[in-house]
This record gives sequence, structure tokens and C-alpha cells, in this order.
Amino acid sequence: MHSLVLHCSDPCWRPARASDVPDVLARLGLAGAARPDAPALYAAGEAFLSLVTFLGCAPQISLTEADAREGQPVCRVRLHCFDTTTLLASAPPPAPRCPSCRAGVCVPPEAPFDGEIGCSGCGEEHLLHRLDWRRGAGFGRCFVEVENVYPHEAVPAEVLLERLAELSAVRWDYFYLSR
Ligand SMILES: [Zn+2]
Repeated sequence: MHSLVLHCSDPCWRPARASDVPDVLARLGLAGAARPDAPALYAAGEAFLSLVTFLGCAPQISLTEADAREGQPVCRVRLHCFDTTTLLASAPPPAPRCPSCRAGVCVPPEAPFDGEIGCSGCGEEHLLHRLDWRRGAGFGRCFVEVENVYPHEAVPAEVLLERLAELSAVRWDYFYLSR
């Protein structure tokens, strides 16, 4: 499955109230009704297509079960909240690069998100969560996942990232999961 994931660039940020992020998504029209069987899973809302831009000539997307051709997955919005800072990564995970010199950086398996990693290319130290994860992984405690869109084909509109940033007072960014 492929998805687009939005997250706050402060990896420790979480909303003051559990309803804060769903309220913003509902107000903007990214998310519609929650599914009764899965409270953190929402149907695409009425403004979905103006908040997620699809690149490419003929993106294959369906927003409702009724629209979906046989075997075609439906775009949905799913919230993920964690008690601690968590790394969501594609499988296999991307090999991160140094943001200064672009050299590949070896990350020890149990490295903490706020640990410093030395780059063997330029010698600079960078926090693990500040490495360039090549839009294939991201850290956070609160993630908004748009399910069933292809990596690099779907891009969040600036207004969507801005409205979310108003909650956190820190900018939001995005990455893609393939697993
Ligand atoms: Zn470097």
C-alpha cells in the first residue's frame, strides 16, 4: 500500500486536544465522515481534490467505494497518534543522507530521534530526525495519512500544511510510505 503522510516538523509536537487535528481536517474538507468501525479512519472530504494535488496525466484515484473500479483502492484519511516520538518508514526504509553534503549516513538501529549522528562525508553532526530521509520516512507523534495514493504523484496543497501549522506553531512537512 502507498500513502502520503503529513507531520509536524517538530518531532515532539502533539495536539493539545485529540479533536484538534480532526477538526482542522473536517473544517478544510480533507476528511469527511469517520467510519463507525474505525474512529481514526475518515472518508475523503468534499474538498479533498483541492487539498491534495495529483500530478501526472491520469492519476488512478477513487474517493468512494461506489466510484472504485474493481480491485481499485479508495483514498481515505487516517490519523495516527503516539505517546512518544515514532518513526514511520517505508519498507524497506530509505537510506538517509546528510543534509549538508548529501553523503549517505549510517544510522545505528537503536539510535534515538534526537541523537546526533556524525557524517563521514563532511564531519558535521546532525540530529537523526533532521537527516534527509528522502521523503520516505518521518518522525512525529501525530501523523495524517492519506491512504492509497502513489508516492510523488500526490502533493499536499500549501493551505493544508499552513492550517495544520497554525495548530503547532511549527511548519508541517510530508513524506510517502510504501509498504
Ligand atoms: Zn555530510
